[in-house]
Amino acid sequence: MPTITNLVYLISAVLFILGLKKLSSPKTARKGNQLAMAAMLVAVVITLLDQKIIDFTYIIVGLVVGSAIGAVMAKKVQLTGMPQLVAFFNGLGGGASTLVASSEFYQMTGNAEVNVIATIGLSVLIGTVTFTGSLIAFAKLQGIMKGAPITFRGQQVLNALLVLGAIALGAMLCMDFSNTNLLLGIFVVAAVLGVTSVIPIGGADMPVVISLLNSYSGLAAAATGFVISNNVLIIGGALVGASGIILTQIMCVAMNRSLGNVLFAAVGSDGGSADGGSGEQRSVTRYTAQDAVVMFDNAQSVVIVPGYGLAVAQAQHVLQETAQILMDRGLKVRYAIHPVAGRMPGHMNVLLAEANVPYDLLLEMDAINDDFQNTDVVLVIGANDVINPAARSKKGSALYGMPILNVDQARTVMIVKRSLSVGFAGEDNELFYDDKTMMLFGDAKKMVTEIVQVLKG
Ligand code: NDP
Repeated sequence: MPTITNLVYLISAVLFILGLKKLSSPKTARKGNQLAMAAMLVAVVITLLDQKIIDFTYIIVGLVVGSAIGAVMAKKVQLTGMPQLVAFFNGLGGGASTLVASSEFYQMTGNAEVNVIATIGLSVLIGTVTFTGSLIAFAKLQGIMKGAPITFRGQQVLNALLVLGAIALGAMLCMDFSNTNLLLGIFVVAAVLGVTSVIPIGGADMPVVISLLNSYSGLAAAATGFVISNNVLIIGGALVGASGIILTQIMCVAMNRSLGNVLFAAVGSDGGSADGGSGEQRSVTRYTAQDAVVMFDNAQSVVIVPGYGLAVAQAQHVLQETAQILMDRGLKVRYAIHPVAGRMPGHMNVLLAEANVPYDLLLEMDAINDDFQNTDVVLVIGANDVINPAARSKKGSALYGMPILNVDQARTVMIVKRSLSVGFAGEDNELFYDDKTMMLFGDAKKMVTEIVQVLKG
């Protein structure tokens, strides 16, 4: 039986790795998800059978109940609500690691090895930080808590003391593991640390934190895998830990911010709603849907730049309808995707996939950036920071150094948004005032619907 179990674990691990690989492209992401799901199913079933804890009846009941909850959540949760759902799942993962490691600890009799005790302490520490930290992230994104950073004097010192306290308790536990209060102490310290380390982070930075907490949940699972000597948990945990940290790094690089800046600089207002004011009042000409169509009539190439506002307005379907009409008229239409457009990695890809936009029309920043200079019209829908030239020129700005889409190099830039207000980074956008820019003020869905109506005559 152990040989069969390990063989099945190996198959499951390979499926996890293939799944992750396929998740790296929108074309294969669906398949990647299916492979990872199959891997998880196989791993769960063989573990339950191997341990002889329960028979098939319970496995099937568990599958039905779990699948029903998952299906309802997947149907009900909007795409803009996905980060908080992921935060919630991460929290459960961290909590599960804490429970499994603790139960192993309380079942221990006789002499335990120091390395096992240390691993239990680590698992409880990381798992609990992930649990409470993820719950705070969830509450901020769901609007249950204020999204703005919550800071107080001495916060970072307190966090440092909590980390040191947890390490000290862990060391004491290794020396005297009969004292169960020490593990309880680690649990309490970690629970507070999870809260105090996430409350100072602004709501709009939460996706980066969620990805980091995701990585933590993987580390906690891997540590628990060592505690209960379960190979697939070690491999699965390590994969989650590594991919989570890689994703965190990718997001930080794409925003040109260090992880330290995200975690400690308290950037962002309430939930990242882009309604901050710049203070300075300048005027721009207001253009209409009719004006936009006149430009399209004289254009040969169009690049669409989606941003956070597209997701808020849920304008993806009508946008795709517009693109289709333009293509039917013989225009070359493509979409330019900035790596951090929106509020979570891949946000725009998923949104546009929902509207059945063909994958080959979606071009990543590096693939399209040199092409803007040959483009007649760029249609920016609810994007702001990712096209803001301040990222190139304005030293000291929160955006400075962030790679942006070179939309200002196109012949005409149309920007659809409700006002002149700033984006997530709180930086004014000079492009709004540029001679080649046409500001189309309004809700993205309403404005694009008007454009479609005019196009249809
Ligand atoms: P921004 O937040 O810069 O801008 C979005 C714009 O959308 C706003 O200026 C707003 O202007 C407009 N908007 C909002 N609602 C609507 C609506 N209903 N109709 C039309 N327009 C609307 O978004 P970007 O996508 O350009 O940039 C993403 C930002 O988020 C970057 O700064 C990035 O670093 C950050 N971020 C991204 C993460 C990711 O993983 N993708 C993670 C963490 C942060 P107005 O109010 O005038 O309508």
